[in-house]
Amino acid sequence: MDRDERLMSVLDEVKDDLAKRLGADGVQSLGVSACDHSHRRTADVLHGRIPPAEIPHALHQFEQLGGYCDCEVLLNALPTLLAQENEDPS
Ligand SMILES: [Zn+2]
Repeated sequence: MDRDERLMSVLDEVKDDLAKRLGADGVQSLGVSACDHSHRRTADVLHGRIPPAEIPHALHQFEQLGGYCDCEVLLNALPTLLAQENEDPS
């Protein structure tokens, strides 16, 4: 498994966990004030799921998809990646 496959394999869990940490019970009721405009929670959620050395790469991937902070990762990057995964099963 390469680092991109490893990231894809944990995306569902990352999305659920990140939503909980942002205090959201679903994206519609996301409290944007819970976001401190960093990747702090995203990095926390990735810790333990992928090797620490791969976290900067994962955050970069999220930024490429508009995920410049925790709430944008949840609203933009993760749904886009999950949709890509469904279109292109590997
Ligand atoms: Zn944010």
